[in-house]
Amino acid sequence: MKHDWRSAIRRLIFSLALAFVVGWSLDILAYTLVLTLGVYLAWHLRQLHKLQQWLTSRDTDEPPTSHGLWGSIFDDVYRLQRRQEKSRNKLKAMLKRVQDSTGALKDGVLMVDSHGNLEWWNHAASTLLGLQNNKDIGQPITNLVRNPDFKAYFDKTHYEAPLEISSPINNDATLEFHITLFGRKDRLIVCRDISHLHQLEAMRQDFVANASHELRTPLTVISGYLETFIEYKETLPARWGRALQQMHEQSQRMQNLINDLLVLSRLETNHGQEHAKVQVPAMLTALVADARSLSADKKHVITLECEDLDLLGIETELASAFGNLIFNAVKYTPQAGEINIRWWQDTSGLHLEVKDNGLGIDPKHIPRLTERFYRADPSRHSDTGGTGLGLAIVKHTLLRHDGHLHISSQLGKGSCFTCHFPVSRKVLRAKVSNG
Ligand code: ADP
Repeated sequence: MKHDWRSAIRRLIFSLALAFVVGWSLDILAYTLVLTLGVYLAWHLRQLHKLQQWLTSRDTDEPPTSHGLWGSIFDDVYRLQRRQEKSRNKLKAMLKRVQDSTGALKDGVLMVDSHGNLEWWNHAASTLLGLQNNKDIGQPITNLVRNPDFKAYFDKTHYEAPLEISSPINNDATLEFHITLFGRKDRLIVCRDISHLHQLEAMRQDFVANASHELRTPLTVISGYLETFIEYKETLPARWGRALQQMHEQSQRMQNLINDLLVLSRLETNHGQEHAKVQVPAMLTALVADARSLSADKKHVITLECEDLDLLGIETELASAFGNLIFNAVKYTPQAGEINIRWWQDTSGLHLEVKDNGLGIDPKHIPRLTERFYRADPSRHSDTGGTGLGLAIVKHTLLRHDGHLHISSQLGKGSCFTCHFPVSRKVLRAKVSNG
């Protein structure tokens, strides 16, 4: 390029020198100089014109033919263009591969911009959500997936857990949505059809519910007969007495187990039940009375501290959950131990605390305590007649009431189980005006 530049200058000087000599000898110096410069300028303008034509026309890739400085300018621009085209093609191929691979996914993938408008989606997303390529691009995703739960989930900025809702185009199908934030509040949404899993889960729940239900009747009959036998045990041979007693105890345990399984399956399947005002103080007073009679000769000191607060919920479920915590405290606290029950409200919500100074639990068991049939100490439950389902019932009940359970305990010192409910669950009382 440097070389071309120099030869262009040299060519100009030579042309001017020639024009000068010819003009001087013929005494038309001004004309020859103007003519030479004019021709020179015209040639450059023509090259510029060629450059502009080449850059704007899409007819040919090849650069116009020229020589000298313009020739190398054309060649350099052409090389630059080729290089750019190569990297553009490479990028295009990469993008196509990404699109092809996400297109082949069975899961729907959608990209939504920071305003919540749909930018791109794959074929599976079109099928799962009924999106139409030309119509729905740029539309707010919450207009296309019209579901209040989806809107509430989408508006959150933390997406730890996935969302399950029924498909917007097929009520029988269930979809699971995962949202990930990226860039400047853009969102990547992955949705998949989990109807099959849902059906399996429903089948499992139905099976447990049906099996428990079917077992209940024969067990009631067996238990009833055993009770009658025990009543008349004096009339029976003496060696049957202990066997009958044990059979009766085990049939009671099986009945408790079946009842707990039925409660759990009801909690899992019954979603449409109406939530109403639950008078927690009255409920706790009744439960404490039951706990005192359960405690009987273990002579626990049971106290109840209760603020006059009502909760929005399902009475039977809450009674069973609170009862499980209170009766557990009685079961796992040795003679003359203390059990304190407290129901109160603060800025973070409403809370029920059941605290005992009983056996306590090794902290390593605490994270798994609410799993079904999990026992901190398997040797203990045979004494207490527990089913291992009580805390699972508590956890499910609290989930259905937007609450959660917190457990703290120290082995040998006692345990504290606290149910937390959001303030929104408090039932406000109408003010009575006296005049
Ligand atoms: P269970 O019917 O066996 O009591 P739960 O689900 O109610 O089953 O409780 C699970 C386990 O948690 C119990 O087996 C027991 O080991 C432990 N646990 C529950 N409550 C207490 C408590 N108040 N004190 C000590 N351990 C407890």
